[in-house]
Amino acid sequence: MGYEEAWRRSVDEPEAFWGEQASLIDWQTPPQRILDASTPPFRRWFVGGMTNLCHNAVDRHLQARADQNAIIAVSTETNSTREITYRELHREVNAFAATLVELGVGKGDRVIIYLPNIAEAVFAMLACARIGAIHSVVFGGFAAHNLALRIDDAEPALLICADAGMRGGKVIPYKPLVDAALREATSPPPRVLVVNRGLDAAMAWVEGRDVDYAERRAAHLGETVPITWLESNEPSYLLYTSGTTGKPKGIQRDVGGYAVALALSMTTIFDLQPGQTILCTSDVGWAVGHSYNVYGPLIGGCTAILYEGMPTNPDPGIWWKLCEQYAVRTLFSSPTGIRILKKQDEAWLRTYDLSSLQWIFLAGEPLDQPTYDWLTRGTGKTVIDNYWQTETGWPALSLMPGLDLKPVKPGSPGFPTFGYRMRVIDEATGEDKAAGEKGVLVIEPPLPPGCLTTIWRDDERYQRSYFGHFKALLYSSLDWAVRDAEGYTFILGRTDDVINVAGHRLGTREIEESVATLGAVAEVAVVGVADELKGQLPAVFATLKQGVTDHPADVAQAMERRVVELLGALARPGCIYVVPALPKTRSGKLLRRALQALMQDTDPGDLSTLDDPNALDEIRKAIARGP
Ligand code: ATP
Ligand code: MG
Repeated sequence: MGYEEAWRRSVDEPEAFWGEQASLIDWQTPPQRILDASTPPFRRWFVGGMTNLCHNAVDRHLQARADQNAIIAVSTETNSTREITYRELHREVNAFAATLVELGVGKGDRVIIYLPNIAEAVFAMLACARIGAIHSVVFGGFAAHNLALRIDDAEPALLICADAGMRGGKVIPYKPLVDAALREATSPPPRVLVVNRGLDAAMAWVEGRDVDYAERRAAHLGETVPITWLESNEPSYLLYTSGTTGKPKGIQRDVGGYAVALALSMTTIFDLQPGQTILCTSDVGWAVGHSYNVYGPLIGGCTAILYEGMPTNPDPGIWWKLCEQYAVRTLFSSPTGIRILKKQDEAWLRTYDLSSLQWIFLAGEPLDQPTYDWLTRGTGKTVIDNYWQTETGWPALSLMPGLDLKPVKPGSPGFPTFGYRMRVIDEATGEDKAAGEKGVLVIEPPLPPGCLTTIWRDDERYQRSYFGHFKALLYSSLDWAVRDAEGYTFILGRTDDVINVAGHRLGTREIEESVATLGAVAEVAVVGVADELKGQLPAVFATLKQGVTDHPADVAQAMERRVVELLGALARPGCIYVVPALPKTRSGKLLRRALQALMQDTDPGDLSTLDDPNALDEIRKAIARGP
């Protein structure tokens, strides 16, 4: 079946289509009803079906692939590699689950996981899934305050953390942050299970509260904890969004729909059969990490490489080296990740044998043409942009090389994946835009399997945040998009990233892309700032590539010329700043609203997910000095 036919069936006959896909996973009790959409915008998939994520990710494979590697955990921080077979994974997850049970954790209890990108994070997630506890992984490296906010929202019975993480060879203590977060949090204090990696000898210990994982593991190794079967729509986990637009939302995921959607995506989108290997460079703390470092590959019987370390350490060839070493078929990363490599010597793309590598998927942010060109030229591989949100749990727009690969159009994540009926509509009238016209991207309910079921304990916020923007009941996270005549969708950024110059609407992305075509430019962010005459003008912030010696003022002039040349005088920047770094969220997304607030001296809103506060200080100084 080709793409069009399969997609059409998935949206026109959802019950028939998804009913067939249900057999991709194991059910203890099969679903009684495929879809219940009687109370929109809520919907329930595979109603009455009893299943379990851990069973589908681990136990199910013991018969056919017990000795195949499930996880290869590589750390260039601790210089270690652990190859973990499905049999070993089963053993570790059971010991972990027995520890959770011993600590009184049961079905429906929340467990916060605050760990680096290491194998224990995977064990912990699967152990929670096994006993029906709801995990909420918080990206390791978030500050104590971020952690406290999530603790108070999720009210965990247990918090699992490490003594420390490492970044670029530097030990980053985690446990003191947990101690501080628990002092700040107001919800009932949880027990704390500590994975002691022996990195922080000075770690404080709270008797009666803190528990040593290694000790409990040794006590429970060899035990088997029975699977707790869950109804398909019960919560499996919570995950907070990146906070690019404001306070993070606690996305709630189900069990059956998520497992089925991931299983289907593994073969059709990521083109991975059981036994094949994926390297996903995300951190388990993000949505991509949940779905394609952990659940997707394991449900699909694949081998997942889990990488702790920087993309440039010990050298910028490390990802490609792993691709060669483990015969990686599919690499999944982000445009930000590739832009980090793009600052380095291109020769690294050709240092290793990449003959096993078939596909490079990138998601999370608009993929700009210069980055796409650089990667495609350097590796000779097919680069596939895919668009999704923490909310969707899997790609909503993507090409599908495992089913029917359409030609790549750089800058476009392609077509809707299964079950996504998407439209580009006018913000004001709600009417469909014609091909080539910009508008807001919306999804018609019911949301497909895999997508969020609600916001944790806040159905009202779920309805308001996602379905409250238009007269009709339509899901939107307010991304700005355009569809071309062939149906390819291009994401132009968020609706609040649109600049209105003298009545003309310009996407920040268009201006950023034209600046990025200059060889000296590493990264660029554009925001609109108020202008008396024209309403708004673009302000450009750019960093330069390593080793560029041109005078910043000359590069700024070249940027201005390039924007005018490519987009016309209308897009001429009001000011250009060459700065050492751009403000980003911990997940690597540009925080344009922080730049805008600096320019206009307004309130930037929640900055708790900001990665490096120094970047903003430097920019503040640059603005004070003048363009
Ligand atoms: P918050 O919702 O808390 O403000 P966020 O939207 O950045 O944060 P995520 O769920 O991590 O949190 O990111 C989803 C968003 O990332 C999308 O809505 C879109 O704006 C952007 N995005 C993801 N993939 C792509 C892509 N391939 N092309 C363009 N934009 C993308
Ligand atoms: Mg969002």
